[in-house]
Amino acid sequence: MSLLTVVVPCYNEEENVPFFYGELMKNEPFFDEKGIELELLYVDDGSRDGTVTEVKKLREKDQRVHLVSFSRNFGKEAAIYAGLENAGGDYVVLMDADLQDPPSLLPEMFDLLEQGYDSVATRRVSRKGEPPVRSFFARMFYRLMKKISRTEIMDGARDYRLMTRQMVDAILSMQEYNRFTKGIFGWVGFSTKWIEYENVERLKGETKWSFWKLFLYSLDGICAFSTVPLMLASVMGAFFCVVAFLMIFFIIIRKLIFGDPVSGWPSLVCIILMVSGVQFFCTGILGQYLAKTYMEVKRRPIYLVKERL
Ligand code: UDP
Ligand code: MG
Repeated sequence: MSLLTVVVPCYNEEENVPFFYGELMKNEPFFDEKGIELELLYVDDGSRDGTVTEVKKLREKDQRVHLVSFSRNFGKEAAIYAGLENAGGDYVVLMDADLQDPPSLLPEMFDLLEQGYDSVATRRVSRKGEPPVRSFFARMFYRLMKKISRTEIMDGARDYRLMTRQMVDAILSMQEYNRFTKGIFGWVGFSTKWIEYENVERLKGETKWSFWKLFLYSLDGICAFSTVPLMLASVMGAFFCVVAFLMIFFIIIRKLIFGDPVSGWPSLVCIILMVSGVQFFCTGILGQYLAKTYMEVKRRPIYLVKERL
């Protein structure tokens, strides 16, 4: 008999944990018929509410429920990594606890996987119920990534994904500290079938992603899967050199015709401000990559476990 592990990262999801279990188990007859055993792995990402208690309650009723609990909040990326590392299944599926990744899609996804794909991934075609500013920036991010990264990162892709053991092992072999799972999925390759669905709103509680957090996360993604920003300094440098040569030429001609080479200090100030602005900006980009490299070379663990059931 094969085993399917359902990995659920949870951060302050006490209200959603039991609901999620109920919804997921509606798929039980389908998997029984296929001869697939189900196993549920809740990864508690340092929740400060009753998430752990709720999972333990479920575990008393059903021994197929497992728990890995972190010593503090390490972020969803770490929770995903821990989930994959602790999953024993021949197949693994990643799902959010808030039922935004509808468990009802699971049978369809499994059927597709059986047709020979290595993973079946989901993307939402609408962003219904999301602030328009957020949607706008999200779209910009994906368009930018398409231009500056060679790794395929699908617009609207969710982390809801069913994978074979082979693909899970490939993802686990990527030991980086700055994890951007959406990019990692693309980087490892393998054949992926995409299925689309309308956005579903969160069941209970609130999203853990503020606009600012998402913005910083997008910078992580850019740093992790593109080095194009590092070329910006060279490109800008070359551009300014060309402009400078043209201006030297212009000033020499003007001096020869009209005399007076000194007038125009306001334009000088503007040029100094602009060029130094560009320099600071480029130094900032360097700093970003340096900071990421610094975190990476420390080789700190991606997560720390407090309790494992
Ligand atoms: N999550 C987590 N650690 C965090 C933030 C979120 O494990 O630091 C989990 C959260 O419990 C949920 C999933 O990641 O199961 C997605 O989070 P959320 O629903 O807040 O994000 P959104 O769906 O709004 O993008
Ligand atoms: Mg959500």
